[in-house]
Amino acid sequence: MTYAETVAGQISDLAAGKYSSEELTRHYLQRIEALKTLNCYITVTSESALAAARRADSARAAGHSLPLLGVPIAHKDIFCTRNELTTAGSRMLYNFAPPYDAMVVDKLEKAGAVMLGKTNMDEFAMGSSNENSFYGPVRNPWDVTRVPGGSSGGSAAAVAAGLCAAATGTDTGGSIRQPAALCGITGLKPTYGRVSRWGMIAFASSLDQAGPMTQTAMDAALMLGIMAGVDPRDSTSIDSPVPDYVSSLETPVSGMTIGICEDFMAEGLDTASEVRIADAIRVFESLGATIKPIRLPHVRYSVPAYYVIAPAEASANLSRYDGVRFGYRCKDPASLEDLYKRSRSEGIGPEVQRRIMVGAFTLSAGFYDAYYRKAQQVRRLISNDFKSAFDQVDFLVGPTSPQPAFRLGEKSDDQVSMYLQDIYTIGASLAGLPALSMPVGLAAGLPVGLQLIGRHLDEARLLGAAHQFQSRTHWHEARPELEIS
Ligand code: GLN
Repeated sequence: MTYAETVAGQISDLAAGKYSSEELTRHYLQRIEALKTLNCYITVTSESALAAARRADSARAAGHSLPLLGVPIAHKDIFCTRNELTTAGSRMLYNFAPPYDAMVVDKLEKAGAVMLGKTNMDEFAMGSSNENSFYGPVRNPWDVTRVPGGSSGGSAAAVAAGLCAAATGTDTGGSIRQPAALCGITGLKPTYGRVSRWGMIAFASSLDQAGPMTQTAMDAALMLGIMAGVDPRDSTSIDSPVPDYVSSLETPVSGMTIGICEDFMAEGLDTASEVRIADAIRVFESLGATIKPIRLPHVRYSVPAYYVIAPAEASANLSRYDGVRFGYRCKDPASLEDLYKRSRSEGIGPEVQRRIMVGAFTLSAGFYDAYYRKAQQVRRLISNDFKSAFDQVDFLVGPTSPQPAFRLGEKSDDQVSMYLQDIYTIGASLAGLPALSMPVGLAAGLPVGLQLIGRHLDEARLLGAAHQFQSRTHWHEARPELEIS
């Protein structure tokens, strides 16, 4: 039996009765087992997945229909899943099984999706290579000696390796887009607030946003339509109707003006990637778009601003892990202070500890104005740059990451070089803008991603542009060759 690889393909095959959800779910479970060395999943929920698949098959037989009925998907292990282990890639939460589902998990389940398991990630979503996971690094299916990107590396590698057709991810400074680029898939970070953060383990609350990771823009549109929407339990979720993303995929790109971020196509970008990006821009031109160079003068400060703001918010959010209420607790504490200190020192990994310390420092009296307030002012300037860009263009294009996947261990000892992996993605995060990455070619056998950044709530046009690109090119269909054990 050959199974469709995309969500859209599986929806129509399941409806046509070509195979059952149970067969499709078994296929994925076998493949996950056979490709275990990629380490994409922290938890595989085989039993409950098969039970959910059988329920989906009976519901279909009884004449019910739901948008994703019987389609197997995976969730990043940052989304709370009722009675299922939810670790956020940390030892701190090694035994945490939440009593409730995140809004995103709930919505996808109500749409009929079958959860295969929880995907690996950098601890508390801090990282760009998945090497910060307590559960070990994920391997890039295109070259297992390389990283898949991070922090949603498990989700990206799982989609690329055919271990699920779609997965959820979260993006605070690039964690959906950068791993999507390094694994050759499509990943969308929606507008801040488009998707509820309720039940998503918090890293930096003013930046965190959930989104779909899929092979195609069509699948991302299908997933986002279900994930998006206002939620009374998330006061920052946006109360604006969710458009039908699928039906607007064909809105022509012709007549639109696309800005090329000149600041991104400069020093620091790998030359082979630059060529692929230039080729992709020509495809948009052939679709009838007008190309215009755009300057974003303050985006070069986005990495420093982010590495003040994100750790500050993280230090506050992560103070709840005290060894008392959640997860890991040290052995034989001598006093309450010893319990806090050792539980946090033993339960939390080095990168996360570093950020907690930086955040506590920049928020402390005497330094707040010099660092935190200043970073917020820079954030405003960056937002204004995007605002004036969008007075001139419909959306912006540029690279997603400075180079294709790097080797495991290559940057582990060099924080600055690791932080610079997000140099092209953080701007849209600070400004709360929707942005997606899609594959536009290979460089030395490794995928290259193109980033599209849109106006607030303009996901439909971003997805439309990506879909039309994918209708005329085949890069999204390129698959890594994998040895199945
Ligand atoms: N790589 C960035 C960081 O380490 C972004 C992570 C993310 O988007 N969650 O913070």
